[in-house]
Amino acid sequence: MNDKPKENPRTFQAVRGMHDVLPADQPYWDRIENLTKDLARSYGFARLEPPVLEFAELYHKTSGEESDVVQKEMYTLRTKGGDFLALRPEYTPGIARAYLENSLSRMGQPQKLFYFGPVFRHDRPQLGRYRQFTQIGFETLAGPNDPIYDAEIISVSWDLLSELKIKNPTLKINSIGCRVCRPLYKKQLVNYYKNYEKELCGDCAERLKTNPLRLLDCKEEGCVKLKGKAPNFLDKLCAMCTEHFKSVLEYLEEVAIPYELDNHLVRGLDYYSRTVFEMYAEGAEAAIGALPAGGRYDYLMETIGGHLTPAVGVACGVERLIAVMKAREIALPVRNQKKVFLVHAGDLAKQKAFGLLQSLRARGIFVAESLAKESLAAQLKVADKEGISLALILGQKEIYEKSIIIRDLKTGLQEAIPQEKLVDEIKKRL
Ligand code: AMP
Repeated sequence: MNDKPKENPRTFQAVRGMHDVLPADQPYWDRIENLTKDLARSYGFARLEPPVLEFAELYHKTSGEESDVVQKEMYTLRTKGGDFLALRPEYTPGIARAYLENSLSRMGQPQKLFYFGPVFRHDRPQLGRYRQFTQIGFETLAGPNDPIYDAEIISVSWDLLSELKIKNPTLKINSIGCRVCRPLYKKQLVNYYKNYEKELCGDCAERLKTNPLRLLDCKEEGCVKLKGKAPNFLDKLCAMCTEHFKSVLEYLEEVAIPYELDNHLVRGLDYYSRTVFEMYAEGAEAAIGALPAGGRYDYLMETIGGHLTPAVGVACGVERLIAVMKAREIALPVRNQKKVFLVHAGDLAKQKAFGLLQSLRARGIFVAESLAKESLAAQLKVADKEGISLALILGQKEIYEKSIIIRDLKTGLQEAIPQEKLVDEIKKRL
């Protein structure tokens, strides 16, 4: 065997747009995941986690051939067996597939589901836009096409932001109609834009033929100007969609959620119908982008072989929530998890301390240590750095006497107590 170090070994970096979640950030992740679970419990959503890989065709059929997600952003692979798969670029199609495949409709309707996990999009990385990111989502599938479910999805999203102390968010909301009124609106939109075809950006000139609604979504300066005079969707909704949208707004008023009507909001995925919405942190719309965003998708299930199934949902990027919390210096709730610090003096004590550590942890005591450090002073310094106020000191003498020293690190006062009384004594003092 050649033990010589290799010359110039290659160093590696994380793949562009993908990030390590370091220990210092874990408290944010814990907070958001725990909050998501608490909200889900209180609103009655149950977790469903589909696999990360699905057949790529699922997204072609649902998110839409013309959507950015399918056209530019999917990570796809061909398996040895010849299957063409995609790392999920979003959850909703996988949730819908799982709903059908597992006949969840038989488990009661509506099915209220939530998820929390990674999503992959080969997007241009920038602040708030990553290639691997994490989505929280809530979806209400089946049951009546009732606007109260749209309002409930918006309400749980609103609560997520308020509980995280992201103050004064903006909710933008629109209705993009149904199969009856949308084609008529699209026609009017195309007629309007045809007058300005030469002024459109390259993408929009193409979208005019394939997916004219997306013209309202374009961020290019020339296109933004043009949409100011584009026909307003809300004027063109059919009576049923108008009624549905009006009720959603009334429910929001009932729970005092303020909203802004935005008749240019269309969202980038093909499957939406009727209500669409996005929420932003105050002043962070341009810098970070949408936090929770979603809408109704009544026709999605039909595109993958199911019956017409009313559905509405939301997804929110966790990294974006954390970016806002950090930028606003929003403090996390302090977890009251008081610890003791176990110090050893000598080799035998180190061995016994290792055993004691296990038994204390098994009895629910949080114990910190620095057992690889030999000197008492060095160990106590670590305890001090971690802000721990109670130390347990085990030396040769204590081992023979089956005792242990318990020391208040603030006052310096200490006493030896029998080891059998240790747990009670710790509980009394913490
Ligand atoms: P979408 O699935 O495109 O409707 O996005 C839903 C939410 O996911 C957005 O509102 C963001 O909070 C988040 N999100 C979308 N794309 C990204 C990305 N590339 N990086 C981080 N978060 C994202």
